[in-house]
Amino acid sequence: MVKKYNCPGCGADMAYDPALGKLSCSHCGYAEEVTGGIEDWAASGSDAATSEGLGSGRTASGGLGSDAAASDGPGSAQGAYGSSGRAAEPALEYHCPNCGSVLVTGEKTTSVTCEYCDAPLVLADRLTGNYCPRRIIPFSVDKKAAVSAFKKWCHNGWFTPKGFTSADNIKKLHGTYVPYWIFNMRAHVVLDGTATRVRVRRSGDTEYTTTDYFQVYREGFMDFANVPYDASAKMVDSEMVKLEPYDLGQAKLFSMPYLAGFDSDQYDYEDGQLAAMVQDRVKDSAAGRLSQTLPAYATVNFPVRQVDFQMLGNDYTLLPVWSLSYIYKNKEYRFMMNGQTGRVVGKAPVSVPKLALFGGIIGVAAFIVQMILGVI
Ligand SMILES: [Zn+2]
Ligand SMILES: [Zn+2]
Repeated sequence: MVKKYNCPGCGADMAYDPALGKLSCSHCGYAEEVTGGIEDWAASGSDAATSEGLGSGRTASGGLGSDAAASDGPGSAQGAYGSSGRAAEPALEYHCPNCGSVLVTGEKTTSVTCEYCDAPLVLADRLTGNYCPRRIIPFSVDKKAAVSAFKKWCHNGWFTPKGFTSADNIKKLHGTYVPYWIFNMRAHVVLDGTATRVRVRRSGDTEYTTTDYFQVYREGFMDFANVPYDASAKMVDSEMVKLEPYDLGQAKLFSMPYLAGFDSDQYDYEDGQLAAMVQDRVKDSAAGRLSQTLPAYATVNFPVRQVDFQMLGNDYTLLPVWSLSYIYKNKEYRFMMNGQTGRVVGKAPVSVPKLALFGGIIGVAAFIVQMILGVI
């Protein structure tokens, strides 16, 4: 089922506007709050449930512990925006309800903009069961701000290849909700080692040094809450880490209208597939925190003997990213921006001829200055 949101005032398409924090109509200016909650159309009729079944059974009872989402009551938006029909089976091919053209989507696409009529569309039947996100951080940075950050990032194209800052290329800048698992876990850490303390005593001309050796042992539990890990195969993990932190306290309960006007995909990796990697990420900090509980010693050799994790429930959450990728000389360059905080990562391509030209200009300028000074 393809969903779109029509303006009750003029009938035009509405999209989520990050600057307003509302679903808005760019035609007449009408705007309305996204009344949160998990707008799960399949939940109202079991006949329409997909084979994944309803309810992920994965979400933690503690969840994200977000106060910000407290006003978003689950299910409150049910039917609030109407729907354009219900598919009995998940469709393999989707049509734009606006212009009727076939939508070009990936297997996991959950929202798109129609490439013919620009209608913001949400593929509602792909957002059910296990694939219904628990939470979402809506975009706070709008496209205008993302474009100006892009231009600043690449110095207005001074050294980038021709066309990098062209309107056509900038058009490729798009907002995507990236699927994440937000992990909550308890670590049981055992540290076992040796430490020394040194005392120096002087008697006459003789100095006595006494070294005491201690067996040191620490064992403890530590809870880690809200550790994000991206669950998208398309995204490069090392780049996604650089986009952090996201303020998960601002996460809302998922609601489909947030997706209108942005791209989004289902997760590629289950939380279980990422557990070992996320545990690896926090292991050192767990051991480090525990070793800080030791009193002062002259030396400490405190290896980690054991770290076990108990998973406390993980939330499927969508996080906002602005991105633009560009191929130059067979290499991909990516501009990426945290859609909540505006943090920018990535490396812009450098055009060798432009750099040489710039070097030439500097060289000529230096030559002129030297001539004026009478050096030459
Ligand atoms: Zn309108
Ligand atoms: Zn269309």
